[in-house]
Amino acid sequence: MNHDESRDLYDRALSVMPGGVNSSVRAIRPYPFFVQKGDGGHVIDADGNRYIDFVMGYGPLLLGHDLPETVRAAVQQRASEGPMYGAPTEVEVELAEFVTRHVPGVEMVRFVNSGTEATVSAVRLARGYTGRDKIVIMEGSYHGAQESTLVEGEREHTAPSSPGIPESFAEHTLTVPFNDKTAVHEVFEEHGDDIAAVLTEPILGNHGIVHPIEGYHETLRDLTDQYGALLIFDEVITGFRVGGLQCAQGKFGVDPDLTTFGKIVGGGFPVGAIGGKSEIVEHFTPAGDVFQSGTFSGHPVTMAAGLETLRYVAENDVYDHVNALGERLRSGIADILEDQAPAYTVVGTDSMFKVIFTRDGEFGKGHCEGGCTQDPTCPRYEFCPKNGADVDRAETERWERLFWPAMKEEGVFLTPNQFESQFVSAAHTDEDVEQALEAYKRVL
Ligand code: PMP
Repeated sequence: MNHDESRDLYDRALSVMPGGVNSSVRAIRPYPFFVQKGDGGHVIDADGNRYIDFVMGYGPLLLGHDLPETVRAAVQQRASEGPMYGAPTEVEVELAEFVTRHVPGVEMVRFVNSGTEATVSAVRLARGYTGRDKIVIMEGSYHGAQESTLVEGEREHTAPSSPGIPESFAEHTLTVPFNDKTAVHEVFEEHGDDIAAVLTEPILGNHGIVHPIEGYHETLRDLTDQYGALLIFDEVITGFRVGGLQCAQGKFGVDPDLTTFGKIVGGGFPVGAIGGKSEIVEHFTPAGDVFQSGTFSGHPVTMAAGLETLRYVAENDVYDHVNALGERLRSGIADILEDQAPAYTVVGTDSMFKVIFTRDGEFGKGHCEGGCTQDPTCPRYEFCPKNGADVDRAETERWERLFWPAMKEEGVFLTPNQFESQFVSAAHTDEDVEQALEAYKRVL
């Protein structure tokens, strides 16, 4: 493959943008390919090379790159009527109605412009509502580029994970390993009266894909109830992907107080949202006194794209299609790896998938299909990583060596590091999946 054009663009980008990109994860070594356009389940780069795309914008593009006619028409119409107004529009109400109708834990919703803004606002709301400062998050979790969650360390011994964040932010953030019921019990026993909220993804999607063990979310629900704290599900990735229109909370039957959304709910345009019980969400200004505001919030083009995307999903068998392809990929990759890799695990559920190269066969070789973690008697249970630290011990160099350069040269676009999930879209075909599996076979 020729990448001259991408390399030249990257040289230009490096002199005008820090690291040559606008989001760190895009800065792939030695240089990323620059995208010219998307086409169904594929992207075409600046040099005209075509890739099967399993990055899908890091999750928003459930329908792939070709928007259905209804989505495209709605977006074009909104854009042609003046992109935004600083006054409310009907389409915001319609999207809010759609979300509250389908997502069990959501009675009201406030739209914002990114997943980060959603989690920042949710944490502020939880603090304002409870009058407490501390939040509990999972080790290795990611909730966007926000001060309160960019921390490292264990329990109360946390420190900012980036320069530029005052220590005082980390002082209010406690961390526990995902799936460790004892740890979260202990943290509540010690700090329960100061904890505003537990913030977690229902499935860790930025850390290799880690599924909850049986009863974990119920433990979080019970403890937060018992101590008067809120349970916040960050469904920025899982929202409208895992568990269909009911999202992961519907799949797991857990009822969070607040839910954060991003990605799919904006149909490919910048979006975030905070949903939850009316009694809590109404504490946002102007109904309540927890300040929340934004020039672009509820942007009509985004709202139209999100609404028509979700309507399309509701009326077509999108989830059956993407979940079946996801399952085919996960089991196909596991079969290939069984012969070729010393130690690995294949993780994912619904339309999410990832390979983790484990050290010394830590989990044995195997395929951890999502539901396995819910059932300790499942023969695959041992193959599933249970927390962020399990994934941290993976052979990340192996991922970087094989999957980025080699799979890219095979025409398959995967997330460039060991940790981030990959996604199947409605635009992917059986043929794309078979081609991708052939590529995995050659590369491995
Ligand atoms: N929460 C989760 C779970 C995410 O995966 C992400 C981004 N991948 C965010 C929050 C932040 O979203 P955004 O990048 O839109 O700010």
